[in-house]
Amino acid sequence: MSDKYDVIVIGGGPGGYVAAIRAAQLGLKTACIDKFTGKDGKAAPGGTCLNVGCIPSKALLDSSKHFHHLQHDYADHGINVKDASIDISKMIERKDGVVKKLTGGVSQLFKGNKIDFFHGTGSLGAGRKVTVNPADGGDAQEITADNVILASGSVPISIPNVAFDGEYIIDNEGALDLTETPKRLGVIGAGVIGLELGSVWKRLGSEVTLLEAMDSFLPVADADISRQAAREFGKQGLDIRLGTLVRSASVVDGEVVVTLEDKDGESQLTFDRLLVCVGRKAYTEGLLQDGSGVELLDNGQIKVDDHSRTTADGVWAIGDCVRGPMLAHKASEEGVAVAELIAGKPAHIHFDTVPWVIYTDPEIAWVGKTEKQLKDEGVAYRSGSFPFAANGRALAGGSGSGLVKMLADEETDEILGVHIIGTNASELISECVVTMEFQGASEDLARIVHAHPTLSEAVHEAALHVDGRAIHRGN
Ligand code: FAD
Ligand code: NAD
Repeated sequence: MSDKYDVIVIGGGPGGYVAAIRAAQLGLKTACIDKFTGKDGKAAPGGTCLNVGCIPSKALLDSSKHFHHLQHDYADHGINVKDASIDISKMIERKDGVVKKLTGGVSQLFKGNKIDFFHGTGSLGAGRKVTVNPADGGDAQEITADNVILASGSVPISIPNVAFDGEYIIDNEGALDLTETPKRLGVIGAGVIGLELGSVWKRLGSEVTLLEAMDSFLPVADADISRQAAREFGKQGLDIRLGTLVRSASVVDGEVVVTLEDKDGESQLTFDRLLVCVGRKAYTEGLLQDGSGVELLDNGQIKVDDHSRTTADGVWAIGDCVRGPMLAHKASEEGVAVAELIAGKPAHIHFDTVPWVIYTDPEIAWVGKTEKQLKDEGVAYRSGSFPFAANGRALAGGSGSGLVKMLADEETDEILGVHIIGTNASELISECVVTMEFQGASEDLARIVHAHPTLSEAVHEAALHVDGRAIHRGN
């Protein structure tokens, strides 16, 4: 392989591999270095997202949802199945197969785009010189480029006195690879991972207790949505304990004993497994040599400007290792934008319209501002909403819970935020993102023909309701 490139990307997650592909499409001679090793001992580009994040969690969410429906919902349809059982190792094997197909796909894309891939650790020195230490322990190699893109991702945060051991006290990787359903699963942090992976194991039969430090539930979402979500998850049997501080956890005779403090004082709970998911932090270990010129912020993130330029000339950084939401699609779009900027094209990301999705059942999705944010900012707005309980398709499919809520500027009617809790919220949010990206108004969505019967009619009705003219609900 060559030792001089136009672009070297360090990190092959959804930020890095997408940046590399876009750079190659633009005619730039590109290399990508990624150190992740798959279960088969081979390179597995795709980062956290493909290997131990977005994709495997969704595979398990889907498997566990089928099992749950089989046990609890199909009888309503007249479908009776006796003695349903779940083979956890088969479920994990299927998940691993999905992961392998996708990471293999990234390797093929690298080949197809003539990107040189290095399986190993890359570290940046002065003058955009990168040292590659191969994963197989071979000799280090030095390569250089006119531009280097850092895309090293993130790792889970740990909390004091609760040490990960990979068996009893686990992070997302452990929770995606359990070999049997724990009878009692403790989860520290009722955030996105806690809710998604807590749901997986709850559906498979665990008693799941989520210990959340904050007094409010899911404060990142709009309050109407969080309230409804708390009700739904409570009905499903997820035991969410707010205002609970975990002081320590230790493994005693094959059980995890957690000491916690809440409004009633100190107490202990015992679990079979404890999942710690209290957020993630930028990962830059071994990434930067002395003299690289790349500065870090106090929180460990790589310091970048609005166009992802670091403090070193010709060095860029994207994805989870920099500011902004830790989301795969945000990382990828930053990767595309940086590759285009390097190629001399104009590129820009509109962070205000990055959608969020939580893949629980019902799903939660939003884009733009919450009602509280608008109030805090003193923005005058109108609000419309529509419940899925009045949507024909939702009822026909047996998923009549949840709602769509739309917030629009009082004067201009521009949509400022859309918040959805319900089946397929992850897909429904897209038309709202598109409308907001074009600075569209609720009136624009209200005048667009939506197919009947579809869940998207709830978005249409919420838009109509902003103007007090929803058809299928009182205004
Ligand atoms: P990463 O995906 O972390 O990739 C970084 C890569 O760089 C890794 O392979 C790492 O090994 C490698 N690397 C690091 N340092 C070096 C080095 N020095 N040399 C070589 N290689 C290096 N986001 C969503 O949008 N939707 C979801 O549904 C979703 N689900 C998630 C579920 C879970 C359980 C988790 C943990 C995360 C989830 N996320 C989701 C978040 C998403 O995974 C991240 O936002 C995304 O992966 C960030 O992409 P990235 O490219 O910045 O970093
Ligand atoms: P999170 O920030 O979503 O949730 C962490 C939760 O832990 C918060 O509610 C926080 O108040 C709580 N917490 C923090 N310290 C605590 C303590 N000491 N004791 C008890 N609770 C504590 O973080 P996460 O769930 O670890 O996920 C990390 C990130 O990964 C997410 O923020 C998101 O960016 C990404 N992710 C995205 C998706 C998705 O897009 N569907 C899925 C999973 C993860």
